[in-house]
Amino acid sequence: MRVIRRNVQKLILMGSVASMFLLLYVLNSEQEDVDKSLKIEIIERSIRSMMNQGECRQPHLPLDNPEIMKFYKLVEKINCGSKPDWVMCEKSICFVKPEISAIHGDITCSYTDIIRKSDYTARFGRTVRIKEPYVLQNSDFVRVACHATSGERWFGMAYGIRDTVQRPPAPNLAPNLAVLPPEVVAQAQQQLQDLPTTPFYNVLMFGFDSLSRNAFMRKLPRSYAYLTQQLGAIVLQGYNIVGDGTPQALVPLLTGHTELELPETRKRVSGSGSVDAYPMIWRDFARLGYLTSFNEDLPYVGTFTYRMNGFDSQPVDHYLRTFYMQASNMLSGSAPNCVGNQPDHLVMLDYTKNFMMKYRDSPRFVFSFHGGLSHDSINLVGAADDDVHDWLVSLKEKSLLDDTILIFMADHGNRFAEVRATLQGKQEERLPFFSFAFPESFKKRFPQEYNNFLANEHHLSTPFDVHATLKHLIHLQTSGLYELTPDNNYDNLSNDIKTAPVQPRDIHISEQARGRAISLFERIPNNRSCADAYIEPHWCACLNWLPLTLNDTRYAGIIFKAASSIVDTINAATVERRQLCAPLQLVQVNWALRLQPHKELLEFKTNIDRDGFLADLSGHTVVHEEFYQLQLVTQPGQALYEASVAHNLHTFNVTTKLTDISRVNQYGTQAKCIYERDPELRKFCYCRE
Ligand SMILES: [Zn+2]
Repeated sequence: MRVIRRNVQKLILMGSVASMFLLLYVLNSEQEDVDKSLKIEIIERSIRSMMNQGECRQPHLPLDNPEIMKFYKLVEKINCGSKPDWVMCEKSICFVKPEISAIHGDITCSYTDIIRKSDYTARFGRTVRIKEPYVLQNSDFVRVACHATSGERWFGMAYGIRDTVQRPPAPNLAPNLAVLPPEVVAQAQQQLQDLPTTPFYNVLMFGFDSLSRNAFMRKLPRSYAYLTQQLGAIVLQGYNIVGDGTPQALVPLLTGHTELELPETRKRVSGSGSVDAYPMIWRDFARLGYLTSFNEDLPYVGTFTYRMNGFDSQPVDHYLRTFYMQASNMLSGSAPNCVGNQPDHLVMLDYTKNFMMKYRDSPRFVFSFHGGLSHDSINLVGAADDDVHDWLVSLKEKSLLDDTILIFMADHGNRFAEVRATLQGKQEERLPFFSFAFPESFKKRFPQEYNNFLANEHHLSTPFDVHATLKHLIHLQTSGLYELTPDNNYDNLSNDIKTAPVQPRDIHISEQARGRAISLFERIPNNRSCADAYIEPHWCACLNWLPLTLNDTRYAGIIFKAASSIVDTINAATVERRQLCAPLQLVQVNWALRLQPHKELLEFKTNIDRDGFLADLSGHTVVHEEFYQLQLVTQPGQALYEASVAHNLHTFNVTTKLTDISRVNQYGTQAKCIYERDPELRKFCYCRE
């Protein structure tokens, strides 16, 4: 009896401990949710603010502004050493380069497949030792060791596009004959003869990290000229960022959502999941039978692997990350910006082209995004101009662009260089390079959509719009098969694709966020404001900013108040790490701006005719809040910060959000003590020791 009772007590105790943990878990996860919806609310309040609602006027940003041009200089080509790599692959065939055999005679190589296990690890396949070419089957990437009869040896890596990726075609649509077994192809071809089918357009997206529209024109003039003059690319003049950093650009572009709206994937949040939960646009293409590829260099700061957990399953058919991850181990002795004897950017250009060539008869979606040259330097990307130009020429010459929509783009402008400390640099940061080039057949097949796109060239546009455009492209090519959503919103299209898996349930989108995306194949209204486009005022390049004279007594008080609020916000963020991070003090304010709402906006009362053509400008809108933007220096560490500050005109309180504070000079080793413990505090922490 006593034994039973003791067991019961034990069970009750275990049960209550377990439920306590469960409660803690629930509270924790609820806290994150509350936190998220609160953040969205704050962001949306600032998006709705009065001064954000004016019709967008793009700032005039001269290319040759001497204030900016003083940071630009010419750079040498990337030098990866004089000894060429021995082995290369074309599509799936890897072989010793003929010029190497000519020098060294008979060469035998051992090939070992590098197979992805996760975004962070790989395993090696069986090693095959042959003189003949090696066919990639289990992976796109191989480790290669060769020796020649001359006694010379070579060790390195090679990449191609493996042979065995298959994708079942979507029902009622043209199958990808190139990737199916011969007997299936024969059968499909028979059936296809009776079916009216039109080919799908490929999507080839290539991007550079941190390249504004102006910087692209300055640093890649040959590529720019070829894109715009030979390929007829349309450069979006009003393409504006919607947040700070790479994920804030690429997540909306690839999913149509902000990170806050999507399931939790941040590494530091316990219980967070993988990025597999994101509704990536390439999945929509894959569902139609497209072959897919997504490629980034810089594996340690990958868009989805740096702060986020990365992908559990390989997200696309061909995924260059696995190569770069291994290269950082195996070829760590390579020269800067090189993998072995090949420049990093050439690897990506080449892999992308190989992918386009390999599946000539199938629809393809590829997104390659290069950061190595452009992320930390305003000048280095100039070293790639000739290569990018030649790559574009060769795509064109090989007819790979005949049925391809080429999207050449960037995520945002330069962020860390001193150039951002100037007013124009700051505006350029918000206006990344973004261009589309359409094949002639597209213009003929979809003239209305193409004309709309042309009309949008100078209008305010965002990553949300590009996402909606890609959705619209899918719809255009499958119209009749899939229904549009009732509100005609291309951004929600995948819900209606019958073969689509159910969207993850934990994607939340507010009323305000609905309608923020406009497909570029539709007309963007002339008077679109940053509020309409879901851009917060401080990211919106269209706004009128009034520079303030620092020693003007009318502004000295508010400038000091705003500066103190920024420093207080930083110190509040590090207070729990005070044993590691020193408190910061204000040294000086470099510049301050006041955000000016449009005069017309303040005076707009109502429409005076029923059609809404004419406005009654006799009104007087009360402004409740105004925004300031400051750049300041703190010590210790001489940190340079830029931040937006809201000034309430009723209470005279000033407030700053931590997320609105950017560090604009490098923190380098200053934040060493916090790297592992709390990486999100890096830009705010000056380590005491
Ligand atoms: Zn970036």
